[in-house]
Order: sequence, then C-alpha cells, then structure tokens
Amino acid sequence: MSAIRLENLVKRYGSFTALRTMDLLIEDGEFMALLGPSGCGKSTTMNMIAGMERPSEGRILFGDRDMTGVPMGRRGVGFVFQNFAIFTHMTVRQNLSYGLRMAKLPQAETERRTLAIAEFLRLTPFLDRRADGLSVNILQRVAIGRSAVMEPAIFLLDEPLSNVDAAFRAVMRAELKQLQRQFRQTMVYVTHDQLEAMTMADRIAVMDHGVLQQVGRPIEVYNDPVNIFVATFIGAPGMNLLKGRPVQTDRGLAVDLGPLGISPPLGSAQACALRAASGEVIYGFRPEQASLAPPGEGIPGSVTFEERIGARSIVHLGEGSTAFRAVFEKDVPLAMGDVAHVLPHPDAVRLFDASTGRVLK
Ligand code: ATP
Repeated sequence: MSAIRLENLVKRYGSFTALRTMDLLIEDGEFMALLGPSGCGKSTTMNMIAGMERPSEGRILFGDRDMTGVPMGRRGVGFVFQNFAIFTHMTVRQNLSYGLRMAKLPQAETERRTLAIAEFLRLTPFLDRRADGLSVNILQRVAIGRSAVMEPAIFLLDEPLSNVDAAFRAVMRAELKQLQRQFRQTMVYVTHDQLEAMTMADRIAVMDHGVLQQVGRPIEVYNDPVNIFVATFIGAPGMNLLKGRPVQTDRGLAVDLGPLGISPPLGSAQACALRAASGEVIYGFRPEQASLAPPGEGIPGSVTFEERIGARSIVHLGEGSTAFRAVFEKDVPLAMGDVAHVLPHPDAVRLFDASTGRVLK
C-alpha cells in the first residue's frame, strides 16, 4: 500500500529540464536515499512525491493509487525539510502534538503519542520549553518528531541534518534509522552526503544532472558502480581512475596505462570485460582495495601527500592524469617523494569505456 512508484517522471522549469524520465519503485517499508550533488534534481523529485510540485510528465503512485494530481494535504505523507518549520512561540509539547490536535484525536491518544515520540527522540526534558529558546540540534529533532508523531505511512525527509553539527548528525543517523525500523514507514531521504545514504538506506538512488544513474543497496553501488560518475561520487575518497588501452601480454589481457606501465594481471571477470572494449578504457580501483607491492608488481607512483586520520592514512601518489590514491589501515613506511608500487586486488578492479563512461561487462 505504501510503496511509491515513479513512472516516467519528468520536471521542466521553462526550457530547463530538472528531472529526466525517472522510473523508480520504492518498496513498502523501504528506506530509500536520493543521493547526488547539488542541483541534480533530488528535491525536485521529493517535492513531486510530496505533492508540492506537479510533474511535467509521468505519474506517481502510492500502492495502486495514482497520486499525480492529488494535493499535498491529501497524500498523507510526513515531510521534514532542511529549513524546518517550527512554531517558535509554542512549547516543544505544543509543537509535537500540533498535527494530532488539528486532526482532533482524543486527548488521551494525543498525550500518549506526544510523550512516546518525545521519549524516543530524547525530547522529554524540553517538553515545556518554548521553541525559540532551544538550539538548532534540538529544534531539528522537534521538526522530525512533529512529523513522525502523525505516524505517516510515507515519511519524506529532505536534507534534515544539514544544519546540525557533525557530532549530532552521527547520533541522528542512528536514531532516524531506528525510528524507521520501529514504525516501518516507507522513508525517502534526500541527501548529498554519501555517508548518510550509505549508513541508513536500504537502497540508494544515485542521481546526476536530473538523471537517475543507479539504484542499489549501498554495497552494490560501492562495489559495482555502473559508470564513472557513481564510481567517483560513492566512496571517500572515490575510485581511482586511470586511462589506458587493452594489451595482450604473456600473462594474459591487461591494460597499458601509458606512463604507469602495464597493469597488474586482471581477475578473470575483468579480463572477460576487457574483451568487450573497443578503444580506450578507464582502469578503476578503490584506494582501500589495494596493497603495497614489490617493484614491478604494482602501479608505480611517487608519494606527493599523506593524510593521516588516526591509524588510517590516505596516500596521494603521482600527479595530473597519472595521480591516484591508496588507503592503508596501518602504518606504512612511506615518505614524501618515495616511489611506491600499489597493487589493486585483481577482483576489485573495475573497467569502464572511456568514451561513454559506462562499466564494461
Ligand atoms: P540541492 O541539494 O542544491 O537542493 P537538488 O539535487 O535537490 O540540489 P533541485 O533543487 O531538485 O536539486 O534542483 C534541480 C535543478 O532544478 C537545479 O538546477 C535548480 O536550479 C532547478 N530548479 C529547481 N527549482 C526550480 C524552479 N522553481 N525554477 C527553476 N529552476 C528550478
């Protein structure tokens, strides 16, 4: 009943197309993140699901019901925005119970649900405080609570954590996920922050320039990006991408990486994919899926910079078109200017068509 189906959804503003033919099924009870850079069309999609904007083409269905022309107030969705709307002159209790009071629920039920959501979001100590005296972190929890208390079957959140501080964001990520598990709503969550999408969502819809690029479980979009955009947008840092050409060696098919030499031997699936290549390819590997190797066995690069975060270090190697990075979880004996040889795990290498950017299969 609460599945959301977007069919051939298009949104144009005058001659500008903000969303191009989006097809997406969000399952009942699923946590779907809409992820992409600023301006890719995430909010536009969300606003159409909420009923704040009308699609230029296409349909929106909740279950079997066509909602395309149904006004926002009659869609029965909960919506939390980045710039939360709180009644500042009211107390937290009045804010949380506002929707229930408007819906004229019995007082006892209103009280029970208000206290339950306040407890869940750790707002109980603030119930009788006026909203205008509270911090942004608390107000954002009130905004979430105000929608959640209505127990909507569909809950839409548009960058709800972008105004709160980093430590609180980490807490809220866990709480929102727990909220969704408890109430089993269908949740759509707009974010440009891949960490939020990767940690909370059941599936992620990655968007760019108004086009849905890939939909999949977090591990799927991480391991098997369909194109160069997804490969670089997902992951921190993103995937290394090096230009090359297929070449036959006495150890099998490999990639001639130009100044970086011939790639290490490929896994069998990678060699098979490379056979489909018609010209230049992009050799991709994740910085964290590689290890140091003896000279002659890995891809050479001179160390230009090292970012150390506790025990983890991100080593930057090479420069310009031959630059790449490697992530090591333990101390590595490298200094600036050293030449390191980095060996990607053969099965973790991904190959893309250089002209289309699409993964080779
Ligand atoms: P952000 O995270 O910055 O909000 P987004 O991915 O949510 O980005 P949208 O807000 O959906 O992006 O906007 C997509 C594109 O549509 C942008 O280029 C934006 O400038 C444009 N756009 C959005 N609303 C309108 C409007 N009312 N009129 C004209 N153009 C618009």
